Amino acid sequence: MTDLDIAKTVTLKHITQIAEKFGINPNDIEMYGKYKAKIPLKYIDKQKASNSNLILVSAISPTPAGEGKTTMSIGLSEGLNRLNKKTTVVLREPSLGPVFGIKGGATGGGYSQVLPMEDINLHFTGDFSAIEKAHNLLSAIIDNNIQSKTNSLQLDPRTISWKRVMDLNDRALRRIIVGLGGITSGIPRETGFDITAASEIMAILCLAQNITDLKARLGNIFIGYTFSKTPIYARDLKAEGAMAALLKDAIKPNLVQTIEGNPAIIHGGPFANIAQGTNSVIATLMGMSHSEYTVTEAGFGFDLGAEKFFDIKCQSAGLKPKAVVLTTTIRALKYHGGADLKSLTEENIEDLKSGLPNLEKHLENITKFNVPAVIAINKFSSDTENEINVIKAFAKHKGVKIALADIWAKGGEGALDLAKQVIEVVETNNADFKPLYDWNTPVMSKIETIAKEIYGAEHVDYTPKAKANLNKISDLGLEKLPVCIAKTQKSLSDNPKLLGRPKDFIITVREIEIASGAGFLIPITGDIMRMPGLPSQPASEHIDINDDGEITGLF
Ligand code: ADP
Ligand code: MG
Repeated sequence: MTDLDIAKTVTLKHITQIAEKFGINPNDIEMYGKYKAKIPLKYIDKQKASNSNLILVSAISPTPAGEGKTTMSIGLSEGLNRLNKKTTVVLREPSLGPVFGIKGGATGGGYSQVLPMEDINLHFTGDFSAIEKAHNLLSAIIDNNIQSKTNSLQLDPRTISWKRVMDLNDRALRRIIVGLGGITSGIPRETGFDITAASEIMAILCLAQNITDLKARLGNIFIGYTFSKTPIYARDLKAEGAMAALLKDAIKPNLVQTIEGNPAIIHGGPFANIAQGTNSVIATLMGMSHSEYTVTEAGFGFDLGAEKFFDIKCQSAGLKPKAVVLTTTIRALKYHGGADLKSLTEENIEDLKSGLPNLEKHLENITKFNVPAVIAINKFSSDTENEINVIKAFAKHKGVKIALADIWAKGGEGALDLAKQVIEVVETNNADFKPLYDWNTPVMSKIETIAKEIYGAEHVDYTPKAKANLNKISDLGLEKLPVCIAKTQKSLSDNPKLLGRPKDFIITVREIEIASGAGFLIPITGDIMRMPGLPSQPASEHIDINDDGEITGLF
């Protein structure tokens, strides 16, 4: 059965029932049909939230298919609920790029899913569209201002870094010329599109704590310079009020349910290879306000999403996670040990053992944040007893807790051992989370700390463009912002081909983008793109709908 087939066998509860279970007045939620609702921000209670145990689900370096963090987060929360710990899973919203591209959706899989998966994967409650509109409104205001005779800020079009966004993988839009068509159609200039998940508005929405904070961050967006080299921000164009108005509903977190009828919150969707990669602060605080345990996920491997989760999100919102669940798959370890992608379902002890250093490095990285780890083996049907024992022996040798999690095939029942271990770690271990670096240190040293400590790099190189960007950052007085490094998820290094635990490599910072609204700098390494492309056979070829409105082919 496909994920969609399994999802269709579940009789969904009305969302008011889920709201009651979550602990809020069902009359207060804003319903989007019977199974989706937005929760008003007044239900965030920071005092109560500070007592919730926040668990981060991360992973080793993934294969291109993803190793099951979302599935694991959902399964773990079902398991904790079965053990009578009131738990809410808090996740990101899917982007249509991967839905129609290669990776698939973001609603989990097998018997660990959030529902209704068709809706969540396709448009959901319209948050991405609102973010896209707010982003593109600023683009339109900028081009209008350059065109204007009376109201002109004298923006130098060659310096404008603000692009446009769309939530699809559309490589043809990466670089475009706008303003063609004569005097009434704008001033021609080169610009481009990023995917909406990489929009600074997405990052802002996910870090803002309320509407005032949202507006302040929107106003702080850096746009470019005037001809006389004065920096221009969105507030200089009086754009933040209208942009925030467009986001009035998008800022509220979305309530849905898991297969086992537990509450789930899904909100915001930045990618972790090109943005901060975790759901909104508002959603996390909402979950924590009403739960004993709150399970959340950060994108891709621990080196990307988790580092940003700890250093950017936790520091910015004052969150203190209690444990990390490191999702590990036998197939990914074999891949990192040299096995071919096509042979990952065959038993292969030798390559599995050769892949263990990747797991080892991620475990070492977790300890750098002073948070305890539990390894969760995401069980695939092709895994053999011999292979499972290799990882268990490794964990025992390292003194790390480990659980076999059969969440895909069995839902919460398959997560009971993992849930027990997580509870034990939380109850016995006084985790005292500490970030990796101090935001006040110089930009180059922040980048170097992450590159050396987390990725395992020997050295960081900067292109002349990146060096010029560093000067610009210092001129603008933005050196105290944290860094959100854009890097491939396929390797600990910035070269997708270096698998396992690469050593003695150099990280090349190509350029550094400024996200002064979101409140971070984006050093871009290797060849990473902020507008992905579709594969030669996109997933869209299999998606269809019949006259009854039933969707097929969604994974
Ligand atoms: P991530 O969040 O790490 O990107 P997901 O949880 O979205 O990964 O899972 C990626 C895909 O792999 C999904 O289609 C999911 O159904 C599938 N998957 C996850 N775990 C398993 C498993 N144990 N067996 C089979 N398929 C799985
Ligand atoms: Mg995921």
